Amino acid sequence: MKHGIMQEKNKMAPSLYIHIPFCVKKCGYCDFYSINYDAGLASAYVDALVGQMGGIGCRVSTIFIGGGTPTALSAPLLKKLLRGAARSAARNAEFTVEANPESLDAGKLSLLLDEGVNRLSIGVQSFNDAKLKKLGRIHNAKKAADAVMLSNKKGFDDLNIDLIFGAPEEEFDDYSAELARAVKLPVTHISCYGLTYEKGTPLYKARKRGGVIPVDEERSARMYSFAIDYLPEHGFRHYEVSNFAEKGFECRHNLNYWRNDEYIGLGPSAVSYIGGARKRHLPDVVEYVKRVRSGKSTIVSSERLAEDRKAKETAAVKIRTSEGIDLDWFKKKTGFDLEELEADALQKLSGAGLIKYERIKGKAAGISLTKKGFLFCDTVSSELL
Ligand code: SF4
Repeated sequence: MKHGIMQEKNKMAPSLYIHIPFCVKKCGYCDFYSINYDAGLASAYVDALVGQMGGIGCRVSTIFIGGGTPTALSAPLLKKLLRGAARSAARNAEFTVEANPESLDAGKLSLLLDEGVNRLSIGVQSFNDAKLKKLGRIHNAKKAADAVMLSNKKGFDDLNIDLIFGAPEEEFDDYSAELARAVKLPVTHISCYGLTYEKGTPLYKARKRGGVIPVDEERSARMYSFAIDYLPEHGFRHYEVSNFAEKGFECRHNLNYWRNDEYIGLGPSAVSYIGGARKRHLPDVVEYVKRVRSGKSTIVSSERLAEDRKAKETAAVKIRTSEGIDLDWFKKKTGFDLEELEADALQKLSGAGLIKYERIKGKAAGISLTKKGFLFCDTVSSELL
């Protein structure tokens, strides 16, 4: 498949996301597309991806290899994949790989660094063994902390950890203790996600039959509010709903999504957004490899978005950032006046205390989420769509 995008002069280079759909074992809460690691299939899949990457036809500003568990790949496969991806990287591109603590060792870390990876995102999720078990994670707290320390020691100075809050029966004090531990680690970025019970996952089923007791919304909101206050006090600026970073270490790849800029997705279930069209790849790795091998497209759906739809989507994602939406920026990017396009939604959201206006000399210059808005960010985004 060729995306065939030629870069226009002055146009922002797109981002590249590569999905690695293999995990050592499926976690209880996860509904991302991934299957158990199979060496033969992984090898065929990496070959297919490298072939597809050769047809991208442009340089990308950021590369993000996620999953799944990219570091579950054997070292030779990982090397082949990284080399294939690096060929599309623009100069100074951000190059992130997601990793899980159990599949990171000194050898793989050296390999990542040698192949140009300059940002590592580790799926720590928790520093509490009982909580990790409830989530169905296969590592323990010590392994998670060791993976972070080793990554830093080997030379990763742009290091993210993912943390989950609101696990079944989780106490507020246990969560705040985890954040206190996180800020002492040599990390530059922390992503905090609330646990969601996605339909079909083992945790969802366990909740349905009363096997797990979810934390109530109030406790979950208290945990999130605490993170919003605590992490900035410790040097991690809150720059997006779930993301906190030291100055200069914001994730460029995700900022690209939140500006609704173009991105290329490769791999089963991955999505591309190029030239105003959204395209989805089929969600099955075996079929994916088969199609690439026989020269067929792996795209299963494609929609071209109308201009007002694109503008509304831009509003819905950009509002997630702490800086919010600058009205001039929005006009320049989409051609629409935000206050006209979203008149009803803005009135409703502002009346509910979910967004606030920035005014310069009495004139509206931008909008952003209030603290309450951060707590109900999904409501705000859907209102803007
Ligand atoms: S390691 Fe990540 S992608 Fe894999 S099952 Fe667990 S949460 Fe999902």
